Order: sequence, then C-alpha cells, then structure tokens
Amino acid sequence: MKGNELRQAYLQFFESKGHLKLDTFSLIPENDPSLLLIGAGMAPLKPFFTGKLVPPCRRITTSQTCMRTGDLENVGRTARHHTFFEMLGNFSFGDYFKKEAIHWAWEFLTEVIKLDKNRLYVTVYPDDQEAYDTWHKECGVEESHISRLEDNFWEIGEGPCGPDSEIFFDQGPEHGCDDPNCAPGCDCDRYLEIWNLVFTQFNKMPDGSYEPLQHKNIDTGAGLERLASVLQGCRTNFETDLIYPIIEATAKRAGVTYNDNPNTDVSLKVIADHARAVTALISDGVLPSNEGRGYVLRRILRRAVRHGRLLGIEGIFLTPLVDVVVDILGPGIKSIAEKKDFVKRVVQNEEERFNQTLEQGLELLNSLIDTLAAEKATVVPGSEVFKLYDTYGFPWELTEEIASERGFTIDHEGFEAAMKEQRERAREARVKEDAKVATPDITFLKDEELIEDESVKASSVLMIGKG
Ligand code: ATP
Ligand code: MG
Ligand code: MG
Ligand code: MG
Repeated sequence: MKGNELRQAYLQFFESKGHLKLDTFSLIPENDPSLLLIGAGMAPLKPFFTGKLVPPCRRITTSQTCMRTGDLENVGRTARHHTFFEMLGNFSFGDYFKKEAIHWAWEFLTEVIKLDKNRLYVTVYPDDQEAYDTWHKECGVEESHISRLEDNFWEIGEGPCGPDSEIFFDQGPEHGCDDPNCAPGCDCDRYLEIWNLVFTQFNKMPDGSYEPLQHKNIDTGAGLERLASVLQGCRTNFETDLIYPIIEATAKRAGVTYNDNPNTDVSLKVIADHARAVTALISDGVLPSNEGRGYVLRRILRRAVRHGRLLGIEGIFLTPLVDVVVDILGPGIKSIAEKKDFVKRVVQNEEERFNQTLEQGLELLNSLIDTLAAEKATVVPGSEVFKLYDTYGFPWELTEEIASERGFTIDHEGFEAAMKEQRERAREARVKEDAKVATPDITFLKDEELIEDESVKASSVLMIGKG
C-alpha cells in the first residue's frame, strides 16, 4: 500500500465511524503563543478540547503535518524519526472514550491494513486497568504483549492531557539492541511505536496544575511514515515511497549509492527529511529569518545544504528537490501542492546566499579547530562562533554540530555575550538614527559619526545580508 493510499484508508475508516475529515492545519499555530510550530495532530484542535470553541463535529479525523525540531538529532540515526512528518489522528470531543478508541485502533490495524497480530504490542499507564482490560479481554491481546509503563502520560505545553496507551510493531530482533530487557518503549528500532492513544481527561493550566476536564476526550496520533514503513516492509521510514524518491534524486546528483556507507546514508536521510520540512514550512508561510519559526527554517535549510557539501555536491541542489517533495506530498496535502513555485524561489534565494559563504566559513572553522586542537583546547570560543554566525551565516547549532564531530564543544555563554553586544550596538545605532531625524541641523555630523563607527557599519551590513 502506498503512503498516499494509507493516509486515505485511515481517514476513510474514521469517516465510516462518524468522524468529520478536516484538511491538515498550517504548521504555524493559530492564537497559541505556547507553541512555535505544530508538533502533533491535536495541537491545532486544542480550543475544541478545552471547550473554548465548539467543534464542527464531535468526532474529527485528520492527517496533520507536524514539525519536531526536538527530534533533529535523531534524524538519520534512528529508523523512525523525522523533523517533519504526518500524524494520522482521530479525535473525540466529549463523545466516545477509551473503549471505542482502543477497539477502532485494533480494527484498523488488524482488519483494514491487516498487520500480523502476533507482532503487535501495547503499553498502558500503570493505573489504567480499564485500558488493560479492553486490550486483553475485549480485543484479545495476550498478556505477554501488554506492559504497564509509567511514561504513558501525554502532554504538550499547556492544555489537554492524560494517560495514554501506545501500540508497537515488533520489527524483529535484527532491528534490536543488546539490552537483554529490550521491550516496547526501548529506544532502539525493534519495537516500533506506531500509534499513541491519549485518553484526555485533564487540562494542564499555566501554573502547571492539572484540572479535570468536564468532558473526556480522545486524541490519537499514528505516524504515517512509520505505518507505511511497516506495510511496505522497509528497514526504515526513509525507504518508503513517501521519502525514498528524495534520497534517490540526491544520491544521483551526488554520484553516491544509498546503503553503501553509513555516513553517506545519514547525509542522504538528513537531506531528504529537511527537504520535506523546508517545503512544508515555506508552503505554510514561514520565511527564513534570524528568529522564531524563521530561524528554525533557516537552520534546517542550511543544515541540509551543508550535508549536501559532505556528499560532495557543488552548487544548488535543494531547490530542485522541492519538485520531488511536491510530487510525493502534493496529492495528499493541498497547501504543498499549491505553493511550489513560491517555495522554490525562497529555497533558491536562501540556498544561493548560504552557498556564497559556506565554503569560507567551513575553511575558517576547520583551521580554527586545527589550531585549537594543537593547543589541546576542546572548546570553540564564543567570539568565533559569533563571527561564523555574523559573517558567514552559520546558525550556532551548525557550528556546534561540526565542532562536535571533531570532539569540540562551543562556548555558549561567550556567543550569547557577543550577540548581546551586537544587539546593543544596533540599538545605539537606531538611537543615533532617531536623533538624526529629530534634529535635522546636525544630520551631517551624525552621518559622519555613523560612517566612522565600524560596529554600526558591520551591523547594517548584517541586516542587509541576513533577511
Ligand atoms: P518516539 O517515542 O518514537 O519518539 P513519541 O512517543 O515521541 O515517539 P508521540 O508523541 O506519541 O511520539 O506521537 C504520536 C505518533 O507520532 C508516534 O506514535 C509516532 O508514530 C509518530 N511520531 C512521533 N514522533 C515522530 C517523528 N519524529 N518522526 C516520525 N513519526 C513520529
Ligand atoms: Mg519522541
Ligand atoms: Mg514514545
Ligand atoms: Mg508516544
């Protein structure tokens, strides 16, 4: 079953159970300052959960685009993590609860997409006997396939939360780790977490306390790419039809082969993930910048470009990957299908900009690290991290990543201090500008001063240079 068909099958199944299907919401949260980006299917539906808004139907199903920058380091290193992915979900707002949610999840997995029951495992919150009994006595899951885990409590920032129950697919011992206690919930790739059912019965308040919700809700999330990987018999999510064409296109461009060298594979996976993320973010209206969501985008985009370099690619390569991403996801995600040309222009602009300075920045960083290594130092000074940021457009996280590949850490405090100093200089420059406008008779003098002041020149170049 293809990824796009799987998304369809899920949504149709829950429509047949009385759910209203909604299009994916934007990755940019609406009226929710507690979140930078949407990271779960329930996030855009929060007002329906809290009762702030009345939902158009008490049962809703979506395939929600999600961004989790917290998983960035995992990308390419585990079989199952992306920064950008789609979360399939069915939601109940004070309508059905635990029993139905469990029964329908089981029905979908074992009857619609026909997964092997013997390879499915579930976990429940230790106190949640009702969930345990529903799995065991009603769905017939063997006791040896059910475990109680303290971790099974779900929350994201403020808002609805509660105990949960997770479903895992046993991919076999060859995907496992050396831990003799390896079981569902282990960090390795053997027991793949495919679906989380959250039985939402509390509301987390701004002060961190939990209040019982008036109406109990259901919030579930299943990773589309993970389910596709199981159905398509892939070793990792990256080999599914939702992602692999991007890897193929990149490998071809770089003249490398996938599955040949572990480092090459990490770069190919990172690029594939980031190409999807960048396309989705820009489609939803995020533009590269030095703060907030725009910084997330810039950081991911530049990280992808750098991995392109690691593969030996010269010149623009990320921009044409947008076409590949849109070919794959466009049929299922309207916002992505509609914005292709715009997305490509934004990516190309940012890619060109970064290409201009990447080489020089890398050279500088590498020779700096050589010098530091000769001096037996292990920390890259904050002033150097700042210089790379300011002059070469290196997000500090990128510098940190490159440094750590060579066994170095970076001086965060020193970097912060340099940033603060620069902001201070920029502020002073603005004050001078204001004074210039307010007192036209001394304009000439102030202009001279501005030109004399190197720091102001540097910061105005910076502002032009980095949108
Ligand atoms: P994991 O333990 O594997 O990191 P999670 O417990 O953090 O997953 P949830 O927050 O429960 O994940 O999200 C619901 C579902 O979304 C997961 O069961 C999984 O199928 C999918 N999912 C979560 N994070 C990712 C990710 N980074 N990439 C791809 N799919 C994901
Ligand atoms: Mg996780
Ligand atoms: Mg988990
Ligand atoms: Mg989970």
